[in-house]
Amino acid sequence: MTIPQSNPIAVSTTLTKVFIDWPDGQTSKFHNIWLRDHCKCDECFHKVTKQRLVDTFKIPEDLESESALPESNGIKIKWSDGHTSFFRWTWLRRHSYDPQFVDFQPFLQKKILWDARIKEYPPTVKYEDVMKSEEGLSNWLLNIDQFGFCFVDGVPPKVEETEELAKRICFIRETHYGRFWDFTSNLEHGDTAYTSLALKAHTDNTYFTDPSGLQMFHLIEFDGTGGSSLLVDGFWAARRLKMTFPEAHKILSTIRIPAHSAGDPDTLIEPTPNAYPILNYNPLTNEIYQIRYNNDDRSTLSHLSSNEVEAFYDALRKWNNILIDKENEYWVKLEPGRALIFNNWRVLHGRAGFTGHSKLVGAYLNWDDYRSKLKISNLTREEIDEMI
Ligand SMILES: [Zn+2]
Repeated sequence: MTIPQSNPIAVSTTLTKVFIDWPDGQTSKFHNIWLRDHCKCDECFHKVTKQRLVDTFKIPEDLESESALPESNGIKIKWSDGHTSFFRWTWLRRHSYDPQFVDFQPFLQKKILWDARIKEYPPTVKYEDVMKSEEGLSNWLLNIDQFGFCFVDGVPPKVEETEELAKRICFIRETHYGRFWDFTSNLEHGDTAYTSLALKAHTDNTYFTDPSGLQMFHLIEFDGTGGSSLLVDGFWAARRLKMTFPEAHKILSTIRIPAHSAGDPDTLIEPTPNAYPILNYNPLTNEIYQIRYNNDDRSTLSHLSSNEVEAFYDALRKWNNILIDKENEYWVKLEPGRALIFNNWRVLHGRAGFTGHSKLVGAYLNWDDYRSKLKISNLTREEIDEMI
């Protein structure tokens, strides 16, 4: 919502709080200590580093407001410790905690969930645009955010150019598989990805505390048969499970599953804590934010009760049935010149078995650094200031 300028906003104060009556009849109540601690003036908040300068512990416990004057775009408050703060209406409305409002549109557009019909209009951008313009980059990132994946057409089928494409977003994440990797079916690492076996829909890195956020694939050489790639929108699959089998959905969003990576002789990777649910929801918003699912990497289930074991296998079967439903599976042939990037916290991937020679290159990128780039390239400085 925008705060209508013509409608006056009434302000009143008590010994400990500031009340703001909004034009829609709602009232926000802010504690003096909260407001003083969140003061954004140059003395209290570093303009450049965006870090708190005010010493929270020097704010008097009995801090009072001496005056609270509404102005056209915000409120000026004089405190009993001699300091004066100013807060924008829009910032106060967005960060109101008593009550919390849901009327502000998020700065980024909502996600678009999809099923097999995405085959008709897969999100695609051009390599030239991404590499040569900031607009191309931000459009690419928006597509990844909304759909969970995006193709890039016109990528030279070479390692260096593909790596440069990944680095448009952020630095490449090095793992025990290396940095910028290439897969041939030679079992270079002890993982079925390095074979020609079929792989069911899964997310990578369930064995990491912080699974990679994005994954990029580019098939730069292929001479053989089979090997189609599979994508499934995990957020859509989770929604379908919730709609059709709410109990199973509850089990998979609460029961924790251990995972490991131990195929290389010198590695035993397990996450901390050592088990996470398959479906992970943000406790603050109740929105799903992460799928962690690789049935092949699941470790020994020795921590479940007898009842939980039955409930888990029943729920897992229902989840699997949704993932392998033809209506949800998006099969696509990767080809030289066309890179694929996807959100590894949302989109499950897999492939059909293949014969012949194949060289797939790719990389992992960190979640936080990808999200940072997405926001920086799509939001104005004012919008960012409004968020923090
Ligand atoms: Zn201040």
